[in-house]
Amino acid sequence: MCGIIGVSDHKEAANIAFLGLYALQHRGEEAAGIASYDGKNIHLTKSAGLVADAFDEDSLKSLKGKTAIGHTRYSTTGSSNSKNIQPFLVTHRNRPMAVAHNGNLTNTEELYRELEGEGSIFQTTMDSEIVVHLLAKARNGNMKKWFIEVLSQLKGAFSLVFLVEDVLVGARDPQGFRPLCLGKIDQSYILASESCALDLIHAEFIREIDPGEIVFIKNNKIESAYLPGWKKAKKAHCIFENIYFARPDSNIFNENIYQVRKRLGRQLAKEHPVKADFAMSIPDSGNYAAIGYAQELDLPFEVGIIRNHYIGRTFIQPSQFLRDFRVRVKLNPIKNVLKGKKIVVIEDSIVRGTTSRGRIEDLKRAGAKEIHMRISCPPIKFPCFYGIDFPSKKELIASSKSVRETARFIKVDSLAYLSLKGMLSVMKNSGNYCDACFTGKYPVPIPTNTSKYLLEGA
Ligand code: 5GP
Ligand code: MG
Repeated sequence: MCGIIGVSDHKEAANIAFLGLYALQHRGEEAAGIASYDGKNIHLTKSAGLVADAFDEDSLKSLKGKTAIGHTRYSTTGSSNSKNIQPFLVTHRNRPMAVAHNGNLTNTEELYRELEGEGSIFQTTMDSEIVVHLLAKARNGNMKKWFIEVLSQLKGAFSLVFLVEDVLVGARDPQGFRPLCLGKIDQSYILASESCALDLIHAEFIREIDPGEIVFIKNNKIESAYLPGWKKAKKAHCIFENIYFARPDSNIFNENIYQVRKRLGRQLAKEHPVKADFAMSIPDSGNYAAIGYAQELDLPFEVGIIRNHYIGRTFIQPSQFLRDFRVRVKLNPIKNVLKGKKIVVIEDSIVRGTTSRGRIEDLKRAGAKEIHMRISCPPIKFPCFYGIDFPSKKELIASSKSVRETARFIKVDSLAYLSLKGMLSVMKNSGNYCDACFTGKYPVPIPTNTSKYLLEGA
């Protein structure tokens, strides 16, 4: 997954993009980059690591100009080598442009083979680079026509921002898999993956970009165009954004994420109540559903695990002895709270089951007497091809183990998941979601060759 931001016509464009990326850090922790345009040249800084480490005063100063785009990366297509860090920049016929992408295309292979057959030389292994090649090939005097022609060839999930000289372009696929919103600071427009990025820079939230919409922003003016078929396309917002991925202080898909997660927790309590001494979460991602769960049942809510917020990269080599400690650097249970208690632990999701197993072991070691685990989404059984980095079916614990077998693996006294119907019932527009990871019903055909390293021939 990734976070994207675009700033138009602001004298602090790069600094605003930097702050926005800070708020979007959770969407990608592998690498970050910003490209800016100063009326003549495009400037680019990108580096592996967190946003705070990827830029310094000098690099931000060098990002001159009033228009900028930025990206935080979490590799879903292509491995995490440095060439694959975005924004991706090209100069074509002396005109520079840059792109930043969130989502996964599903027709990457077809487009790639076609372009390569026509002589395109690819520099990276990202599906996002394909977009730039298509743009270069189709360059047309009329910007709207040009973008419609190119973007309508893409299938799958894309929220995109482009710098085309001094024009900031934003686009969203017709299903609206990934979020993208529009804000305003002073007279200047901002595009961002999530509204929390707008809050941080005191920008006003204007609206979400429509699924299938392309916006062109220049000189504080905005114009829209739409991809063919956008109106008829069935919306398929990623429900996992609501469950886990997006920040709880964001409003996306017309919902506030904190409130959605609390409602998921309340619904979970209705479906699977436990008479426990108290409810607690696995921080941070389980916090909001856990609050809803406790409120629904009038159970006390306790913080049984404390999170250490100062986790840098640990370079400790993975011997088994040390690996155990590495995991516990992040989360530490409080023995005095847990000793001898019957607890209900709320978690937002189980993917592989391995971290949950470790957490439960810690809670037991801290003295919890009985542990009941409740999950605020249904079992994840199918991989995602639209941008969430879920592993292959083989690695998804729920695709091969029943709930009872999973409970045995995690070593809890009981385990229950929120039902599909219950999950959808708390969403405002429940028909507008992609729930393929739970149902296997993919709203857009998935590629036949599904490797994440597709373009590397791996
Ligand atoms: P598991 O027990 O399946 O190994 O891990 C479950 C935990 O992973 C939960 O705490 C959940 O919040 C977290 N999680 C779910 N999806 C993702 C993801 O896409 N990336 C990361 N880093 N964590 C995730
Ligand atoms: Mg979590």
